[in-house]
Amino acid sequence: MQRRPGFPARLPGAAAPAPVRAAAVPAAASAVPSGVGLDSAAVRARMVSKLAAGGITSAAVLQAMAAVERHRFVDSALVNQAYEDTSLPIGLAQTISKPSVVARMCELLLGAESARAQGLGRVLEIGTGCGYQAAVLSHLAREVYTVERLRALHDKARHNLRPFRLANVHLLLGDGMVGYAKGAPYAAIISAAGGEAVPQEWCDQLAVGGRLVAPMAVASGQQMLLVIDKTPHGLKQNVLEPVHFVPLKSGIA
Ligand code: SAH
Repeated sequence: MQRRPGFPARLPGAAAPAPVRAAAVPAAASAVPSGVGLDSAAVRARMVSKLAAGGITSAAVLQAMAAVERHRFVDSALVNQAYEDTSLPIGLAQTISKPSVVARMCELLLGAESARAQGLGRVLEIGTGCGYQAAVLSHLAREVYTVERLRALHDKARHNLRPFRLANVHLLLGDGMVGYAKGAPYAAIISAAGGEAVPQEWCDQLAVGGRLVAPMAVASGQQMLLVIDKTPHGLKQNVLEPVHFVPLKSGIA
């Protein structure tokens, strides 16, 4: 049985996190941890090694996953599972996505035509949840607009993200089914909730050269990861692997 690295049951209160943009991959997963901060960096580095072994090749994505402290986004009772490759409850029957899925989707966004040419510009995320993926995206994109329909989670994400002081993350309370027209056009749109069909607004709000990544139900009822590229000649769709996301719902609650 592998020894699970220790975690504080209580997280350090207002410990000032390093400015996120300056964060780098921890030097070595084998570094001897001493103290809370290093403990968490070492266990994150181990998570990142597994992501790389699992097929994530983008250095930018791996760096972002190494930098964002996932344990700060889950309830204290779940902190010791924060770096396992599993989704975890965040309240209101919603979940924080598992790290491998967050990394996979972020890597797909970076594969967009415009992102490959000039870096990832403005991103729209549907389903802020606890704010974890928005924090990861803040390392990869110039601006992140993230919409949540549940007020309590929108507030939770604001609380979770505050200490990171991410100036490029914009938290919005609203129904992401209609996108967020004011921030459009987007270089990428990413949904953390699975619907039955891609809303027209998402396609409309995507820039040419941009990419949409979303879980969507296919004919069999199975939820699959969908990638839609907006080209000068129209939309190009690819259905990738099966996934399990919470449902996309309309309205605010
Ligand atoms: N990215 C999140 C994962 C959250 S789970 C994280 O890192 O924690 C998906 C979220 O999508 C849930 O919080 C759910 O309330 C939200 N959601 C579902 N339908 C939505 C909609 N139409 N607009 C905005 N958010 C929605």
